[in-house]
Amino acid sequence: MAYKRSVYQKAKEALDARRAQADQLQQLRHAEVASRCPAVLEAEREMAFCGAELIRIACQGENTQEQIAALSQRSLDAQARRANALTEAGFAPDYLDAVYTCPVCKDTGTHGNYYCKCYLDLIRQTAKESIKGAAQLKKCTFETFSLRYYSDMPDPALGRSHRQIMSSICAYLRSYAETFPKGAKSLIMLGKTGLGKTHLSLAVVNRLLDRGFNVYYDSAPGILDRLEKDHFNRNYQDDELQEDLYKSDLLVIDDLGTEMVTSFTLSALYQLVNERINDGLPTLFSTNLTPAELEAIYSQRLTSRILGTCDILQFYGKDVRQQKAREGTV
Ligand SMILES: [Zn+2]
Repeated sequence: MAYKRSVYQKAKEALDARRAQADQLQQLRHAEVASRCPAVLEAEREMAFCGAELIRIACQGENTQEQIAALSQRSLDAQARRANALTEAGFAPDYLDAVYTCPVCKDTGTHGNYYCKCYLDLIRQTAKESIKGAAQLKKCTFETFSLRYYSDMPDPALGRSHRQIMSSICAYLRSYAETFPKGAKSLIMLGKTGLGKTHLSLAVVNRLLDRGFNVYYDSAPGILDRLEKDHFNRNYQDDELQEDLYKSDLLVIDDLGTEMVTSFTLSALYQLVNERINDGLPTLFSTNLTPAELEAIYSQRLTSRILGTCDILQFYGKDVRQQKAREGTV
């Protein structure tokens, strides 16, 4: 896995918190039992004594067999007395055992020589929570993308129905996300508002995060705000700017063309796009603008740099959000 460092750090903190919570609960239960049932404490003291004695005798290495057998029996008797005392006082026999979120690794994150599945899941979950619009990310997967909002009537100008075209785009993006980073090109999604560009962008993001890639997603205004702040505000330190924007395995720039275009944003965007191309790192753009409109907003140099290096995915259809709103399914 190659998420950014802060993801691993946050996941580790969450794991530590789980363990601390389990310890705290165990201590609380212990105090509760101790106040109501002193026999349990007496049995535990006996068990601790037997354990210490067993170690001492093993270290001395003399005449050990009989003493070990006797101490082991004494310890077992104490355990039985502890269990009985708990039950008699109305507690479950395992009431004093630590309650871990993951009983396999006892919330340590490792199991034998391997990372435990719970820890890997926690890292993935943390990576997803760190994405802008994490709530939307949950809903937007390939599985939840419905083609039924796209007409199956052939479009005479295209020779195919919008549904067929969107089905091909969906299949292409699924394959892109499954085979990434092998041969992954930059992509640009073109099409009017509400045709599923953000949904499918996030579906790619979802899958790549599941597969352990460092993906950064934000709108063009969000990304340019961040670059602007970093550039102009001397008191502001953005430690993750490089990892997120310049070095991420995939950068997703949603809603290109909705940002305020200034000479700074033009040059910052060009530098970002160019640097990623030179480093062989793909970018996924989406925009409501046509190539001609993009060129009118940005320089011809930037527009042709983007369009010249991207596979173009032209979306067709009628505003899905409006259709869903009419159906009351939003
Ligand atoms: Zn575990």
